Amino acid sequence: MPSCMRCRENSLTCRAPPGAKRCGECTRVGNMQCGLDGPDPRALQRERAQIEAVEDEAIALDEEAAALHAAAAAEFAAAATAAAAKSAAAVEKSQTAAAHRRRAQRQRAAFQAKVTKILTHEDSAIDWASMKADFASFLESSAALPAPSVAS
Ligand SMILES: [Zn+2]
Ligand SMILES: [Zn+2]
Repeated sequence: MPSCMRCRENSLTCRAPPGAKRCGECTRVGNMQCGLDGPDPRALQRERAQIEAVEDEAIALDEEAAALHAAAAAEFAAAATAAAAKSAAAVEKSQTAAAHRRRAQRQRAAFQAKVTKILTHEDSAIDWASMKADFASFLESSAALPAPSVAS
């Protein structure tokens, strides 16, 4: 006489009327998982389907994560490229500014020498007095030129 799992575990006498799906003990205590008539194929299929669903979800999440990783890597690369280009442009501008500053300083010195020489000709018809004041204020403004932002 075969015994169901519950009766075996509890050392009970397993009895079932012919054709019954549950034994007397399991019917008495309301145990639906008697198992006297063997494993329930539908329950096993449900369990299998649940496992497959969880596995499918894991695969789908893995694929989404991989896509996000790839997108993030591409964005990082693009941002790095753009930042490098901006940095190079900034360096070039700083170098150009420094070159302009040096040229202006040379031209200013040459201009000052020229003005000093011209201003000795006091007998000219030109109003040197007002020009002298104008040039003096221009030459004094050389201090207003901003300091270099990078060493060159
Ligand atoms: Zn039983
Ligand atoms: Zn039973």
